[in-house]
Amino acid sequence: MSSQIISSHSSDSNAPSDLTRFLLPREAFDTHVHVFDPALGQYDAKRAYTPEDAPLKTLIAFNQSLSAEARNSKLVLVQPSPYKTDCSVMMQCLQTLKDRDINAFGIAVLDLDNTTDAQLKEMHALGVRGIRLNFQADGKKVNTDKLVAALVRTADRIQYLPGWVIQLFIPGQLWDYLHDKILELPVRIIADHLGGMRGSTKLPSELKSMSTSQPGFESLLSLAKQSRVYVKISGLYRMSNCPASTFDDLQPIIQTFAQEIPDHIIWGSDWPHTGDGHNRTENTLKVKEPFRIIDNPAILKMLQSWIGSDCYRKMLVDNPNRLYQK
Ligand SMILES: [Zn+2]
Repeated sequence: MSSQIISSHSSDSNAPSDLTRFLLPREAFDTHVHVFDPALGQYDAKRAYTPEDAPLKTLIAFNQSLSAEARNSKLVLVQPSPYKTDCSVMMQCLQTLKDRDINAFGIAVLDLDNTTDAQLKEMHALGVRGIRLNFQADGKKVNTDKLVAALVRTADRIQYLPGWVIQLFIPGQLWDYLHDKILELPVRIIADHLGGMRGSTKLPSELKSMSTSQPGFESLLSLAKQSRVYVKISGLYRMSNCPASTFDDLQPIIQTFAQEIPDHIIWGSDWPHTGDGHNRTENTLKVKEPFRIIDNPAILKMLQSWIGSDCYRKMLVDNPNRLYQK
């Protein structure tokens, strides 16, 4: 009885509370967030959907809610698709974050044929550290020739910019095809959303029992072991059909990453959690599409229980601080 009183008392005062333990530690990174703010800049007319508003001030408040003392972690703004290649909203936000002394970086989407080296250097000065290529074409088959051409072209342009990477969202099986080509690229790759690896609930029946040996998995691990790729633990709801915040089928995948490539995983909330786009049409473009409701502290707690506190710290602090540098 008395020991119970002592332990509950000590956890209330000095030791971090249960909740705090699972939040973001000092110097942590959230490496994947978006801002949607039509007041700062209009969406592209050819966008696939119109999201709800997610202005910078709401992002800052969300980010503060993930730390014990309402401090901001380091952020990586990722250019979202409704703005296509117009990164002006992201650049305005990077400037605001800089003015507020919040450590932030950006991953841009650009029409490189119409972007000068001087413009790239300006973007670098505000914290941009890479280019995003999204080849997760919904349902459509990926044109691998186009993908390789885009990788080579992008790497060629950004290789002289210190710390710049290519952030790549592709179906997982394509890592087999890309493995040797990526070894030859002069820049590193960030593999978005678990590298496209799907939990068993999202795999075809013949692959359900082998999620950690699904096509592409070995190649992704090999590239990460050679430090050519960092795998982003993010967008879990995109890779699993389990009910939100459980993601049981992703546990073997993420635990394998933690065991095999602990120094090459990073974490991103993917806030504000856009939908999967399965029912987007020309008509839905006129309506603001709601975001998913995601319990981020519950996900962080789950991840820590799966991978252990040492690896959790690497994923949140050590690895991204090595990858994104001022
Ligand atoms: Zn995202």
